[in-house]
Amino acid sequence: MICGDYHVHSVFSDGRDTLEDIAAVAYKTGMKEIGFSDHSPMIFDTDWNVRKDRMKAYRETVELIKKHYEGRLGVLCGIERDLYADRDYGELDYVIGSVHFVKKDGVFCPVDSSFEELQREVEARFAGDYLSFAEYYYDEVASLSLSKKLDIVGHFDLVTKFNEKEKYLDAESERYKKAWKCAADELIKRDVPFEINTGAISRGYRTTPYPSKEICGYIASRGGRFILSSDSHAKETLRYKFDEFGNYANGRLVDRACAYSPADPLI
Ligand SMILES: [Zn+2]
Ligand SMILES: [Zn+2]
Repeated sequence: MICGDYHVHSVFSDGRDTLEDIAAVAYKTGMKEIGFSDHSPMIFDTDWNVRKDRMKAYRETVELIKKHYEGRLGVLCGIERDLYADRDYGELDYVIGSVHFVKKDGVFCPVDSSFEELQREVEARFAGDYLSFAEYYYDEVASLSLSKKLDIVGHFDLVTKFNEKEKYLDAESERYKKAWKCAADELIKRDVPFEINTGAISRGYRTTPYPSKEICGYIASRGGRFILSSDSHAKETLRYKFDEFGNYANGRLVDRACAYSPADPLI
């Protein structure tokens, strides 16, 4: 049983619940460790990131929760940091590196906001060619490997978010495979775990996690490692379907929470 979850959003960014409420559920359900990872401030305005002037409150709130659960539940203050994040807010316990936008012709094109928006962007900036868009996306993902701090690779193939229902990308095409393999090779060199992220399942977009089973197999065969994460935006989905998809890691799963041994027995 996996006892930790490190990709969790709260009301500080686009999650539904407070940090306190999420921590209470984590504790009650027997988790050993929880990592908060709200969306980092960006270099442009969005309505789903922590505002820069709220970062101090975010850190202080997590610090209070850490103290409250000391010896009972490990609590970490992380961030899900977009490639185009505003990084000027000091160090946190850990960083999930994610790509939610590609920057093309000076314009930030969202990867995962909605299929309609994706269609508009691909038409406008990639001449309607989804494979070109995917190649561009994986170039951006590869550049996460240059980040100064990177502890977890977030939802590696987010570009396929709507592909189960809409079928805009041919995942069997050689161009597509070449694109993700190049990005995976760059990131494997950083020797940090890739997420097996069940967030799009709990929110009804997909039936399988990021990355695909084929990509997981490739990463594992090259010596990469994995960490299960729920990308929760509500407290009910902590550790969502972890038991079901742990096998995607091909025996290369990192279970950080095992290292945490609370003084008091958990419920
Ligand atoms: Zn994300
Ligand atoms: Zn997230």
